[in-house]
Amino acid sequence: MSQTQDRVVIFDTTLRDGEQSPGASLNTAEKIEIAHALERLKVDVIEAGFPITSPDDFEAVRRISSELEYPTICGLARAVEDDIVRAAEALEPAKKPRIHTFIGTSPLHRDHQLRKSKREVLDMAVNAVELATTLADDVEFSPMDASRTELDYLVEIVEATIEAGAGTVNIPDTVGYAIPERFAELIAELFERVSNIDRAIISVHCHNDLGLGVSNSLAAVRAGARQVECSVNGLGERAGNASLEEVVMALRTRKDYFGVDVGLDTTRLVPTSKLVAALTGISVQRNKAIVGRNAFAHESGIHQDGILKERQTFEIMNPEDVGARQTELVLGKHSGRHALRARIEEMGLVLSQEQLDDLFERFKVLADKKKEIYDEDLTAMVEEELAEAPELFQLVSFQISSGGEMVPTATVRIRDTATDDTVTDAATGDGPVDAIYNCISRITGIECRLLDYEIRAVTVGRDAQGEVTIQVGTDALKANGRAVSTDILEASARAYLRAINQIAVRTEGAENASQ
Ligand code: MN
Repeated sequence: MSQTQDRVVIFDTTLRDGEQSPGASLNTAEKIEIAHALERLKVDVIEAGFPITSPDDFEAVRRISSELEYPTICGLARAVEDDIVRAAEALEPAKKPRIHTFIGTSPLHRDHQLRKSKREVLDMAVNAVELATTLADDVEFSPMDASRTELDYLVEIVEATIEAGAGTVNIPDTVGYAIPERFAELIAELFERVSNIDRAIISVHCHNDLGLGVSNSLAAVRAGARQVECSVNGLGERAGNASLEEVVMALRTRKDYFGVDVGLDTTRLVPTSKLVAALTGISVQRNKAIVGRNAFAHESGIHQDGILKERQTFEIMNPEDVGARQTELVLGKHSGRHALRARIEEMGLVLSQEQLDDLFERFKVLADKKKEIYDEDLTAMVEEELAEAPELFQLVSFQISSGGEMVPTATVRIRDTATDDTVTDAATGDGPVDAIYNCISRITGIECRLLDYEIRAVTVGRDAQGEVTIQVGTDALKANGRAVSTDILEASARAYLRAINQIAVRTEGAENASQ
């Protein structure tokens, strides 16, 4: 395959690089939910994780490998035997497995991180690719920090790893240092100088530290790259990766210029973006291209007038093409179990019968409080369903008095599921949320600092559910909690208790382990 090939492979790394975003951490159930959404979006390759790093990562890659039908499932591995073998084990159930192995090739990485010579790094890369090809038919190699690697050496290593059997060679701009024109020149140089380049697909993986991730990726496509590594909502280390939705819609909308095809079902872009935002707890800025709330909103009178007369006056894409539509009323009090199930399936969510039953119970409770139930309400509930938080302590009830000159006071009743005791206590605080948190800490005996607290309305209207996302920390541990409710104080209390429960379980586990 060569430059003339006109299809760009979309390689999604939301579950690997995206999951490394500071503040985002997904449990296995959440990763599987996102993987199913990516399959519906029809991405070509899903990088499902880095199996050697933890048993959880291994398990997630393995389950995604066994549950998904169509996409290639990729596991990441350093250029060492243990990593590669572990990745192969995790990918074993996959219909189309790919092992992705990498090593740092720039002088900075060679000298400081690896302390190895050019020759040693080259040998490790070749050996890794050779080993990987004995375990999978599809192997990808990445010379990490390629954009800061000496060009002659990069040419040598790309050629050697293609020779060793890499079907895809990825050129990462690991630190987001590249500039579009120069990055395109680099890719063009490789096409010129790597003698066997027609035997591999050249890929790029661009970080967004200078806000150039998408631009660099597109410039590379013009120069012949035929795989782009990207992530939903641009998640990833630091400032993130090239955003999948922007790359895909740029290639689509400007096909006149790029002349390439992408295989995605773009009408799934907005729903997938929403799901990823909800499950990672990292929301999308309003004016974000393609998937932001304002992406298709026209404010100026002249623009609105133009749009009404002829949409193309001020719109280069149809909102429907990316799955952006007016929030629709979907369900209400009288909707039954079947309607709920149908809607869940239509949204691309995959739930077990038991999870659906639980969801239906919660749906009924919510429908009593809130007349109109939107897709976002369902996503928020599913998200809670997937949180799999252990429930050592359960919230039974709470009561708040605050306002004006009063000292905010919370009375909270909590059940300890281990002993079945119910404890009631009261505490004061700077505000109602602080009072609740002080009280929960008093009852559970777990003191922690609140590191982050975010609240947002799940949908529109004054009866909208509030979603509270928090992060708490003790000296040794950090934990996240999330909850939704029409009552924001209740959501605040439940989110905190979730985080407390995780800390309680992990502290207990550590104590048992040390005994
Ligand atoms: Mn990366």
